[in-house]
Amino acid sequence: MKKSTGQNREITRNWRPATQAIRGGTARSEWGETSEAIFLTSGYSYDCAGDAAARFARTQDGMTYSRLQNPTVQMLEERIALLEGAEACRTMASGMAAMTAALLCQLSQGDHVVAGRAAFGSCRWLVDTLLPRFGIETTTVDARDPQTFADALKPNTKVFFFETPANPTMDVVDLEAVCGIARANNVVSVVDNAFATPALQRPLDFGADVVAYSATKLMDGQGRVLAGAVTGSKAFIEETLLSFTRNTGPTLSAFNAWVVLKGMETLDLRAHRQSEAAIEVARFLEGRVPRVLHPGLPSHPQHALAMKQMDAAGPIFAFEIEGRAQAHGLLDALTLIDISNNIGDARSLMTHPASTTHAGVSEDVRRDMGVSEGMLRLNVGLEDVRDLIDDLDQALRQVGL
Ligand SMILES: *Cc1c(COP(=O)(O)O)cnc(C)c1O
Repeated sequence: MKKSTGQNREITRNWRPATQAIRGGTARSEWGETSEAIFLTSGYSYDCAGDAAARFARTQDGMTYSRLQNPTVQMLEERIALLEGAEACRTMASGMAAMTAALLCQLSQGDHVVAGRAAFGSCRWLVDTLLPRFGIETTTVDARDPQTFADALKPNTKVFFFETPANPTMDVVDLEAVCGIARANNVVSVVDNAFATPALQRPLDFGADVVAYSATKLMDGQGRVLAGAVTGSKAFIEETLLSFTRNTGPTLSAFNAWVVLKGMETLDLRAHRQSEAAIEVARFLEGRVPRVLHPGLPSHPQHALAMKQMDAAGPIFAFEIEGRAQAHGLLDALTLIDISNNIGDARSLMTHPASTTHAGVSEDVRRDMGVSEGMLRLNVGLEDVRDLIDDLDQALRQVGL
């Protein structure tokens, strides 16, 4: 293997995460470019008909069609797998494509899923609406208590599906306990790790089987493209997931993969810097507003657990004020922080989940999850934290807080 073009996984696997995030998976062309190339091609050509046949028979290495493989996309998959400490990764066109594929590729009519009740609105829609339509039973539980997963087990339970910290209530799930219950009962645990990314939390280290991502969030990190990823064992990715995604086509574009590759180069730096800033902002809000939900603060009921399984608590947290009118009033008074429902961006963004990200789930489900009318969710970006605090201070004063 030429040093300028190839990588040896035996070597790259031993790199530390910050190094992997910049160099992992790089596969240079014959030009030896330093930054990854974008291969915007849908197809590939062959030297002879026999080669084409051999590629399709998989007796010859190489690519056949970009719904199946693409060099730029493959670099990102290798990079995410290395960072995650996973054997394999497949990227998808969005986080929801990743969640849908991670579930549907392994579930059939008659199976049962246990899911954390506090979840991203679309993840709840998969569990509450889509899966039951195909004869897949689902139960939602308070994932803060691992015993609720054990209690919900049935003979046909195939999958546990949850996120930690959860969007937007910041519920923390005990990864070791819940994934342990899954292993002991032949259940596959699927963890949505979008809020943390492997820079802050590696669920596989705590016994998770499959880790799925919205790479739209911290991995891109600059609010540019939609992307998703599923990581796990080689057997799960190649034998269970691959036929589903190759034939249904939720494929990530090479251009978007390239943008996320660039984002990954600064992931470690951003995730830690934004985590530090988020703690500072949360400390400012504590005492000034009725309730702050931030797993990095000692006031969070699951602070110790969060710190056991996370390197840092991440850029996102929630807080509560008095009802929808005051929450909307605070958003309208902001002059720097944008009203936006995205997260993981280098820009600070705030949203009112009950009327945006969680407007699609019923009021009952919102109450059950703990999404109150006065809850606001803040993504703390990379701006000077003093400017963010100044903006919040003047906006809070405008609504009488
Ligand atoms: C954003 C998000 C998703 C969906 O990802 P998209 O890239 O928007 O499709 C799934 N889960 C969580 C926790 C998210 O924050």
